[in-house]
Amino acid sequence: MIKKILIILLTFFVVFSTSAQYADPKSLPENDIKIYRGGDTYKVKMLTHEFKAVKPKNIILLIGDGLGVAQVFAGLTANKGNLYLENCRYIGFAKTASLTDYITDSAAGGTALSTGEKTYNGAIAVDTNQKPLTTILEDAEENGLSTGLVSTSAITHATPASFIAHQHSRNLYEEIAADFLKTDIDVFIGGGYKHFSERKDGRNLIKELENNGYTVLQDLNSIKNIKKGKLAGLTAYEHNGRIEERHDMLPVATKTAIKILRNNQNGFFLMIEGSQIDWGGHEQSTSYIVEEMLDFDRAVGEALKFAAKDGETLVIVTSDHETGGMAVHNGNFETGMVHGEFTTNNHTGLMVPVFAYGPGADEFIGFMENTDIHAKMKKLLFGN
Ligand code: MG
Ligand code: ZN
Repeated sequence: MIKKILIILLTFFVVFSTSAQYADPKSLPENDIKIYRGGDTYKVKMLTHEFKAVKPKNIILLIGDGLGVAQVFAGLTANKGNLYLENCRYIGFAKTASLTDYITDSAAGGTALSTGEKTYNGAIAVDTNQKPLTTILEDAEENGLSTGLVSTSAITHATPASFIAHQHSRNLYEEIAADFLKTDIDVFIGGGYKHFSERKDGRNLIKELENNGYTVLQDLNSIKNIKKGKLAGLTAYEHNGRIEERHDMLPVATKTAIKILRNNQNGFFLMIEGSQIDWGGHEQSTSYIVEEMLDFDRAVGEALKFAAKDGETLVIVTSDHETGGMAVHNGNFETGMVHGEFTTNNHTGLMVPVFAYGPGADEFIGFMENTDIHAKMKKLLFGN
């Protein structure tokens, strides 16, 4: 009798747990953006952990806007159990609060990473007195390194802007675009063409960029053929579209930027942003988050593959803040299905993960402030 009950219980358990693991995609509700039903996957390459240098010559900083641990795990599940990110053996957590708010925005979050200073929400590399704060990109220029910015939003949007512009408000897109002309940045690829071309002040920044020696291009197929010199790739009128529209813009732009920047014997600093993970969080859309997370991870893969071969490049992957208060309620490693839930349609104060690979990666473990990431990068690149 007891044996019989046990067998029934066991059968019940097996059937139940199997059906939970192998949920039939057809049984999932249609058109629920909180459920990613599974889709294209890619193979992840595991890379070397032997590097020829102890200190990095180059740093590639990848920022997943709105990226928290749940977003990473949603992507990992959707890609059926693997991400390029898993090549990073050194992992920490960054606290993200801004100077004024428990919950930061991308401007203050970006400024913390780019300048090492906490400031007020909305500030683009300025302090509370609206005085400019020197960014790591400017320090890199000063030290003879090449520099680059890549983003799936407009290149004038808060995250990339924090590395190159100094404005009291993130909404000053035309002023931010004009700040690009005050620098010696080598490569930038992202949207925002209109902020350079249709301006209240009547300046044509496209012409000015060309006069300053930049090749200005809008088509990704032309952009990806550039191997040297200065490049301004403005791939969208405003923001780049979602994946179905922009396709592999981010991994391709990442590869292109690295190809150009590596020509400098002194090294380079490159920031790459997966901007729209955040927008998926604001929309509480698991599908949007997964698409963007996998696209971002493929860009991470391009950076890691270069770093593995080069042996003098440090790759750091982190975020400015988490968006959505996301949780992964269910998933399936066989089908790639992910069911996300959300506690807010805004940012949260959660710690964000920090992943590192390459010479100097061991600095990025444990708890840290977002501003510490800047301090560590600066010490590793310039020794102070
Ligand atoms: Mg952003
Ligand atoms: Zn946001």
